[in-house]
Amino acid sequence: MTTAKSASTDNRSTDNSQDKTLELMRKFAEQYAKRTDTFFCSDLSVTAAVIKGLAKHKQELGCPLCPCRHYEDKKAEVKKAYWNCPCVPMREEKKCHCLLFLTPDNAFAGDTQKITTEQIEQLCNDMK
Ligand code: SF4
Repeated sequence: MTTAKSASTDNRSTDNSQDKTLELMRKFAEQYAKRTDTFFCSDLSVTAAVIKGLAKHKQELGCPLCPCRHYEDKKAEVKKAYWNCPCVPMREEKKCHCLLFLTPDNAFAGDTQKITTEQIEQLCNDMK
């Protein structure tokens, strides 16, 4: 039987696991930008939304499937691996259609490879 106490403990552990996944994707984005000499968007709310989307897919599917596309079957897409971040276009040509990783010559590129968890939460809340 699920008691109010155990339900609240379950909610807390889900929140905790979501926080960890978001942190994992935030670190991945920072490190990958650095490694590829790419920059986040000058509008960091774009960066925040994409990192949130990657974390959501990582949590739900076990893999950070690109959040900026429509899929008929997300699990099948994960198996194909083409759109698992960093996707093939990014790895092969530094092309990120989500505007998460931008080369310096891109008109939307900002000058940072850093974003904090607080910024992600704040910017995503502002969009609601
Ligand atoms: S376009 Fe590719 S590199 Fe950019 S967020 Fe989507 S999967 Fe990641």
